[in-house]
Amino acid sequence: MIACVLVELQNKKLDKMFDYNVPKDLEKYMKIGIRVKVPFGRQNLEGFVLDFKDKSDFELRNISYVVDKDIVLTPDLLRLGKIMKEKTYSSLISCYQTMLPKALKASYKTDIKIKYDTFYELNNTFFNLTPKMKEVVSLFSSNKIIPRKDVMEKYRDVRKLVDIGLLKEVKKEHYRLNYDIEKNVRYELTPDQKSVYEEFINTDDSVYLLHGVTGSGKTEVYMEIIDYYLKMGKTSIVLVPEISLTPQMVERFTKRFGNIVAALHSALSDGERYDEWRRISRGDAKIVIGARSALFCPLKNIGVIIIDEEHSDSYIQDDASPHYNAIELAIIRAKDVHAKVMLGSATPSLESYARAKKKLYHLLSLTKRATGAPLPDVKIIDMNYGIRNATGPFSQELIDAIKKKIDKKEQIILLLNRRGYSRVVTCKNCGYTYKCPNCDIALTYHKSSNNLRCHYCGYASNVDDLCPSCHSKTLSSFGIGTEKVEEYLNKIFPSARVLRMDYDTTTRKGSHKKMLDAFKDHKYDILLGTQIVAKGLDFENVTLVGIINADTSLNIPNYRSSEETFSLISQTAGRCGRKGKKGTVYIQTFNKEHYAIKYAEKHDYIGFYHEEMKIRHTLKYPPYYYILYIKIGGKDNMYTYNESLRIKKSFEKHLKDEIILGPSTTGILKINNVFHYGIIIKYKEDDNIRKVLTLMENAYISNNKIKIDIIFNPRHF
Ligand code: ADP
Ligand code: ZN
Ligand code: ZN
Repeated sequence: MIACVLVELQNKKLDKMFDYNVPKDLEKYMKIGIRVKVPFGRQNLEGFVLDFKDKSDFELRNISYVVDKDIVLTPDLLRLGKIMKEKTYSSLISCYQTMLPKALKASYKTDIKIKYDTFYELNNTFFNLTPKMKEVVSLFSSNKIIPRKDVMEKYRDVRKLVDIGLLKEVKKEHYRLNYDIEKNVRYELTPDQKSVYEEFINTDDSVYLLHGVTGSGKTEVYMEIIDYYLKMGKTSIVLVPEISLTPQMVERFTKRFGNIVAALHSALSDGERYDEWRRISRGDAKIVIGARSALFCPLKNIGVIIIDEEHSDSYIQDDASPHYNAIELAIIRAKDVHAKVMLGSATPSLESYARAKKKLYHLLSLTKRATGAPLPDVKIIDMNYGIRNATGPFSQELIDAIKKKIDKKEQIILLLNRRGYSRVVTCKNCGYTYKCPNCDIALTYHKSSNNLRCHYCGYASNVDDLCPSCHSKTLSSFGIGTEKVEEYLNKIFPSARVLRMDYDTTTRKGSHKKMLDAFKDHKYDILLGTQIVAKGLDFENVTLVGIINADTSLNIPNYRSSEETFSLISQTAGRCGRKGKKGTVYIQTFNKEHYAIKYAEKHDYIGFYHEEMKIRHTLKYPPYYYILYIKIGGKDNMYTYNESLRIKKSFEKHLKDEIILGPSTTGILKINNVFHYGIIIKYKEDDNIRKVLTLMENAYISNNKIKIDIIFNPRHF
């Protein structure tokens, strides 16, 4: 028997299968999708068995051993990986590796142990049992296996019962996570929810887009759909944006479905994640909830893949290779196994909504809140005037509104999209600004740790008393971050209990859930945070939401900045007044005439969509054009720039209908001592694009001085 093995080599030239001989004693384990160790050159590497053959023209080496008892990549994941490779233009091995949980990767194997619980089953009964032994036997009249602890209550020396042959020991895997079960918590669907549910169930399209205002009960509709599939013996995957969302979501799902729910998210320890993964693989879990990588779970018999908050950036992996879009791959995986896809959002991405308009997706909508509560009033505060009577970043109107709510014992969410204390520290005398030595960006001052930090590479340094450049005592900080806002809040509202939630306060495992629970229990009056507070949270008592500076996202030089601003305002606004109590949203801005802010004020997604589509059309941006971003990085600035220029020229030679821009430093020139240049190609058909990419890759395959990253349709560049 000969196995064709895809070996874990990072070199794209070697991204192909190699033949290995299967020793007789390993033959019984051989299945497609199994992991093995094989000798390669002088190393011993991991690989996936992808095929078998009878003979080979080469002299073959033996497979060393089999890594897992069971296959780790199911047949449909193996197929998905091949398409992922095409879509992302990366190596097949890197796609397969991305699909596996960390715990299954070579270096982790030894650390994570499977835990077991001990049970007993009845082996043989005898006539000459003591009364105490008879009591043990009676335990088995209703159950086939009994936990060790229960047996020991009747008879301490269990060992003896095993030795005489009365009982037999059974080991069962112990999963680290346990969900408290309060099954069947569910609402009767409203007529609107019901008609959406029925349209989904009774039509045969493959992809649906549910556009439902915040609080319209999308989650309830998802659960009803999942229930439908469950009754048909089918499973479901639910993707949610981030861990901040997951505790509440997971809770809602486990309350309804109990322990057939598995949750995969980054707040799990590697061990917990491994357990969940195994529960899914065995078929013990039938509903999987998780962040984007949960799409790759080894679930069988999938009926539906639901993607909540589908507009979220977190479904796109553009910071690491392979640069994949989980929504695109979800649609591919679903089609392959004849499952449906449901995308849901209050503010769908322009691309998705445009597809729905073109009938590529089946559009469903929910226009009212499920509880009958009205959407919140939105008040725009023009900071061009507001700044005059402001206290720090707070206009007097917002201060008054917060006071009133605190007096009424209602709660407040405040959003500021910048962590840290201040944005930059600058010398008023000579203009010196603290910058990261590795990255081309200003350092942020963090008061709690009293240092300056780079948010890109993590570099930290102390602040000096005197300006390092002119030695005068004129250093001062500008711009405002969450830390400083917290300080203002404590000054303005000394009796209010303020909870700050951002990257810096939520690094410890479980801290997210703890904070959200404490806020829910009204242990705090004000929740202040970065965009992590904008997403999917559902608190009854929140009646005021304040966006401290709506311009932070508007001023980002990116074609999606209007869409992101509209979405951020709408989503944050959606956190308030969800159940009965009327909510109000205050938006502080210097750009009150901007259309993204005006449409958000009116809760008018469709209006915003049409306006923004016109602009995208004029500027030739998605969804009218696709974007390919080529990021070229190198340590030598001049060399990197010149090679970037050469790449662009060769593109121009081969591509006639496409628009080619750059090379430019669209983002930040230097990150972690690597200089970056970007080339943007806007295109409609990708056949030619793939040809030039292959040419480029062949030309640079042995060049170690620059690294080329190919990113299809990035959101940020
Ligand atoms: P969305 O996902 O659209 O933001 P949710 O599903 O979270 O909306 O629902 C918003 C709120 O309305 C939740 O508090 C939920 O418990 C409640 N809700 C949803 N559907 C119903 C229903 N049919 N009857 C009563 N309450 C509902
Ligand atoms: Zn100075
Ligand atoms: Zn840095």
